This record gives sequence, structure tokens and C-alpha cells, in this order.
Amino acid sequence: MMKMTKMMNKITCMRWKAFTCVVLLELLLVPVVSALVPATTTASKKIIFVSIIPLKYFVDRIISAKEVEVITMVEPGQGPETYTPTPEKMQQLSQASLYLHLGLPFERVMMERIKKINPQLKIVDVRNMGNVGDIEDEHKDEHKDGHKDGHKDEHEDEDDPHIWSSPRLMGKILPIIGVSIQNTLGKNVVNNSQQKLNNLQRELNNLDQEISKLFAAFRSLQKKFLVFHPAWGYFAKDYQLQQISIERHGKSPGPRDLEQLAVLVRKNNIKTLFVTKQQIRKQAETWAKSLNIKKIVELDPLAYDYFENTRKITAAILSSFRER
Ligand SMILES: [Zn+2]
Repeated sequence: MMKMTKMMNKITCMRWKAFTCVVLLELLLVPVVSALVPATTTASKKIIFVSIIPLKYFVDRIISAKEVEVITMVEPGQGPETYTPTPEKMQQLSQASLYLHLGLPFERVMMERIKKINPQLKIVDVRNMGNVGDIEDEHKDEHKDGHKDGHKDEHEDEDDPHIWSSPRLMGKILPIIGVSIQNTLGKNVVNNSQQKLNNLQRELNNLDQEISKLFAAFRSLQKKFLVFHPAWGYFAKDYQLQQISIERHGKSPGPRDLEQLAVLVRKNNIKTLFVTKQQIRKQAETWAKSLNIKKIVELDPLAYDYFENTRKITAAILSSFRER
């Protein structure tokens, strides 16, 4: 009951925020956009928009900067959960040809507005994998029976936007990115795009197998890792790990949650707290202290080089397993 009321409050709050956002943006954007768009647009480089930096990495590797300009919505240091597009971003978006998005909270709120600003824009939700099925639903079902210790994770009853954390899911997203780019720019414009796509697919498969092997060596009891912000739910699921999150639905835990967390930390001898680069360090330190954890390791779920970063995350989680 409590949970229900909380959820309703949250939904109402989000709706209000969304409404205020849209109204504010409408007020802000109309004069800005009309002032910045030249009367006659010259045939310049095509613009492709992506939600987050890791998606830019993949697009950059498929096409060269000579062919297109790839613009990221959420810039370094910004959090996708709290992001609101600036008028400058909306102006650039008004001239874009393709928008590859992940259905992030702000994108869901802004989608109608974006369509109005640029009716020609091709908008592709990269999570739609055709006959492969919907990523979110597929993962949500498996989440339901994934937690045996009574600790509910952040995304049990809401969409987890961090699908890119799993290289296996990235491997499913990649063909959609590829086809969307080819359809938008034309296969002859995109130099060797198919070859590049095949290489990326192979690299993702290799990365997936490499990570599977590394984690397979550990017993299930040890495969829990503690995070402040739950950015690695899909990663954890694919490698049979369990992400324990301090943050609940974007909020700090209550006293009862904290008690439960403390028990889990003690029982599993967890010594490291992983925080994201986008987080406030001081806040993380306070929670670490209250859970008697001395080691805080910073990870970036939004780093540019996907392969290097995913290997770095894997190594950090592995070393946290070894210190127990
Ligand atoms: Zn996040």
C-alpha cells in the first residue's frame, strides 16, 4: 500500500515535471529556433543525433566525420535521468536527419515536441529489435525471480534505461543502428559501412564471451556488487551477477532499506561501493560510511570508448569479488 502511494506520488510528480518542462521549452524554443534557422539552409553535412555518448562511439565507428556530424544529447558530466535538452540542442535537432534514441525519461517527455520541431526527422528507438522482442520486457520477466534474498533492486517495477551496459544487448542494438544509418544516408554514402558493422559485431561477441569466462570462475555467493546508482542491471543479469543498489527509484534509501543493505553488505563481506562519475562524491562517502565500507570506486556508465570502458568495469567488479 505504502509502495503504491509512493509510486503514485512519483508518477504525479514526474507528470508535473514533464508538463512544466514542455511548457517552458515551448516558451523558450519558439523564438530561439526561428532566430537561428537560416531562411535558406545550405546542403551541409547531415546530422545524426544520439541519446548518450556510448551510442556516439558506435555511430562514429560506422561512419566518418567527413560524412556526418554526430551529436550527443546528454553531454559528459550530465545524468540521463535528470537531463533536459537545452534550446541549442533543440535547434540542432531541428536540422538533424536521424535520431537514435533509447527511450530515456526526457526523451519520452520530449518526443512529441521533437516531432513538431522537425517533422522530417527519422526517429528510431534502438531498443526495438523486431522479431527479437522488446529488451525491457525480456529482462524484466527474468528479474522477477532473480532475487532470492528479499532485496528488491531499483528496476523491478520500472523501466531500466541502462540497456547499453550489457555488451550482449549492444550486439542486438547494433544492427538497428546500422540499418537506420544506411537507410538515412544511403548505402553508397556510408563508406564500407557493412564491413565496419560486421567488425563491431564480432568485437561485441568477443567481449561478451570474454566477460562470461571471467565471471564464470566465481561462485554465485560472491557475485554481488554494491552500487550507488543502478547503472549495471542488464550487465549483471547477463553474467549472473547481482547488483545491489543504494539508490531506490532515484532516491536515497529509507531507514529500513538501509538496515537491509547493511545486513547484505555484512553477510556477503562486501568491501567496495561503486559510484558513477555523474554522482556527488560527498553523498556517496556518507552512504559508504553508514554501511561501513571503506573503498569507493568510480565507474563511468557513459564513457566514450565502449570496449575499453566495459573491460574497465568488468575488471573493477572482478577485483571487488577477489577482495572478499
Ligand atoms: Zn543512470
